[in-house]
This record gives sequence, C-alpha cells and structure tokens, in this order.
Amino acid sequence: MARKTPGTEAIRPQAQERRERFVAEYLIDRNATQAAIRAGYSERTAYSQGCRLLKDAEVRRLIEESSANLRERLQLTTEQIAEHLANVITADPNDLIEYRRECCRYCWGDDFRYQRTPQEMRDARRNWEEGLLAKNIPPEQWPEFDEQGGIGFNKLHAPNPECPECFGEGVDRPYPKDTRSLGPAAAALYAGVKVTKDGLEIKMHSKEKAVELYGKHLGMFVDKHELSGPGGKEQAAPQYIVAPIQPAKPSEE
Ligand SMILES: [Zn+2]
Repeated sequence: MARKTPGTEAIRPQAQERRERFVAEYLIDRNATQAAIRAGYSERTAYSQGCRLLKDAEVRRLIEESSANLRERLQLTTEQIAEHLANVITADPNDLIEYRRECCRYCWGDDFRYQRTPQEMRDARRNWEEGLLAKNIPPEQWPEFDEQGGIGFNKLHAPNPECPECFGEGVDRPYPKDTRSLGPAAAALYAGVKVTKDGLEIKMHSKEKAVELYGKHLGMFVDKHELSGPGGKEQAAPQYIVAPIQPAKPSEE
C-alpha cells in the first residue's frame, strides 16, 4: 500500500501517506469513518473526512486497484469465510446441547413405585441390612426387603403418559455434547464453554449475525455505511448466545 503512484508527487508526502493509510484501513471493514480515525484523522472530523476521501479520484483508484489485488490473494479465504458463516447459519444447536424430557423414577416402576438401577438396588439392600444389623436384629427376624418399583430404571426412556407422579411430563435433563467430535457446522456454531457456580454455560455464535454477514457477502443487504450512524459507530450486536444449564444431578426426585 505504500507504493508511490505516478502523478502524486505534488501532494505533500504526509497527506499522501495518510490517504494510502486510509485506503488500507477502509479495505478492512469498508467503514469510511472508522478508517479515517484509524488513519489518523480526528474523531470529530472523521465522518466528513471519510466522505471527502471516498469522493477523491485517487483514493477511488487506489481502492479499486487494491480490492482487485485483495480479491485475487484472498479468494480462498473469502470462500472459507463464506463457508464458515454458512455453517453457523445451518448448524443445529442440538448438536451442541440437547434439552431432553425423560422418564421420572416412577414412570416405569412396578405399580408406578420408585425404580432403581441394579447397582442402586444392591446399595439400597446393603444400607437396609446395615440398618437392621446396627439395631442388633437377627437376620431370621428381618422382614422382606421392599424392592419398590424394582430395577430397570433407565433415565434415557421417554416419560410414561400414565405416570401418576409426573403425569407424563417426565424430567428435564440437559445433555451437553462432547465438543471434540463436533461436525463442521456445530463446530462453527460453538463458541466455548464456561463453568460457573450455577452450572455450565454453552456459548454459541450468533446465527443472526452470521446471516447478516453472509447476506452482506452476497450483496443481499444494504451496505455497512447505511447501517452505521453518525460517527460511524457500529450498531451493537450480540457476540454469542449464552445457554446456561445445570449439570445433571445423579437423581432427580
Ligand atoms: Zn413419571
């Protein structure tokens, strides 16, 4: 960008340098006001300087020339960015975290009584026996152990519509996915995870923002210029959506 162009020798080197700097900055985000500020113009005059520079024939020639070079050099990158945005737009958030409603402890138990897994049943029976032994009750006097709803609890089963305890609503459980094995779309949507005192926060990039950027890439929407207000301030857009979740508890009653 620092290359000298013929016919500009008359311009003061500093002014020329600043114009070239303006062009370099303008090509980054196509925001004339912000480019003017970054090129060293005062914030107060940046808006009018930006407008003036964009009308300057030499500036326009430089922009056109640089854009063509840039397009040539960045063609692959442009495609990759477009593909990345398309991935964010089409990604299914369920690939990052599922919010499921599953059976409660009573849904599938015998007579809709409390149901356990086999290991839970062994533990319950041992606790029961230890309680009786602690009371010095001889085994021959022990009553029969009550298995309640029996074994076979599987939290992945669907709720039972007939369940008198949850009335078929089941229990809600969030399932964050293993982020090491995400597909390209889900990986593009994924913006990290935060462990907080209230549980996990699965962060996702904004689909709305991706749609906006993709639309701009395709020239579907108005230019950024028209979106930015006086002073070239960008409209605030959320960086990502935060989906707070509680870690699943071992038992949900
Ligand atoms: Zn139930």
